[in-house]
Amino acid sequence: MIIDGKKVAEELRAKIKSDINKLTGNQKPGLTVILIGEDAASQIYVKNKEKFANEVGINSTVIRFKSSISEEDLKNQIRKLNNDNNVHGILVQLPLPKHINQRDIIETIDPKKDVDGFHPINVGNLSSGNDALVPCTPLGCYYLIKKVVPNLSGLNAVVIGRSNINGKPMTQLLLKENCTVTIVHSKTKNIEEICCRADLIIAAVGIPKMVKSNWIKKDAVIIDVGINRIEVDGKNKIVGDVDFDEVQNKVKAITPVPGGVGPMTIACLLENTLKAFNKISGNAPQ
Ligand code: NAP
Repeated sequence: MIIDGKKVAEELRAKIKSDINKLTGNQKPGLTVILIGEDAASQIYVKNKEKFANEVGINSTVIRFKSSISEEDLKNQIRKLNNDNNVHGILVQLPLPKHINQRDIIETIDPKKDVDGFHPINVGNLSSGNDALVPCTPLGCYYLIKKVVPNLSGLNAVVIGRSNINGKPMTQLLLKENCTVTIVHSKTKNIEEICCRADLIIAAVGIPKMVKSNWIKKDAVIIDVGINRIEVDGKNKIVGDVDFDEVQNKVKAITPVPGGVGPMTIACLLENTLKAFNKISGNAPQ
């Protein structure tokens, strides 16, 4: 089975739109994205975030700064948004220019408006099993996994990669579902052997086609977070961290790249914005 992330993302956006339409009162959720510099990929991500936010009824604003902006000016802008009652979600598009400390910027965002889920308060709440704004990509992976395996209890899951945006929060989400989770990284020995025992593999590494057929157990579920640009026959192609062609006949289900995890990330950002809005406004969750 190939997991259609585009379709699941569409369904999630439709649900968000319907929930926003049902809101009483005259205030709508507001999302502000801060974009610094001219990074081409960031420009595309932000454009898509704005487009989908507006489609579901979220008031979306993008504030653009030159890459020469000082850290203090950026923090002051975030503080203004923290105090703006029309803004419920704040996202600072990463990566930031080298002279700006990413951790300090993330910590300046009000945790209630931290729709990326990167603030230590949200990270801590997620690890403690409390309600939290959860990073969008692992949240999207979680929804895709639940579509295929509604009950994850007791499964052996392997998360490849331990980044703060993907691997670590993914691990917490799976632990909450009673999986036995192994997290592997660049210093892990015998990754292949560990993966072979997994019922569920989430690959978030950034190495094209790293996970091969002999790494996986028959009927495993594979979620491929990787987005890697490679050249094939002189043309640019996007591939995941899993060798899709090699493994697809061995698995129970797998996400394609593109069209798997990617579309879920923005849909989950919109969901986080609505969640933040409901919490800040004192609405019951929809
Ligand atoms: P990252 O911060 O670079 O982290 C990569 C992780 O992979 C690290 O934990 C690293 O281990 C581990 N790793 C590197 N080489 C390895 C190896 N040979 N064996 C096992 N583990 C290894 O990457 P990221 O930001 O999590 O992104 C991972 C991938 O997901 C990238 O392709 C990125 O483009 C993609 N991505 C997709 C989305 C989406 O919306 N679909 C969103 C974000 C990212 P160490 O910790 O030991 O260095």
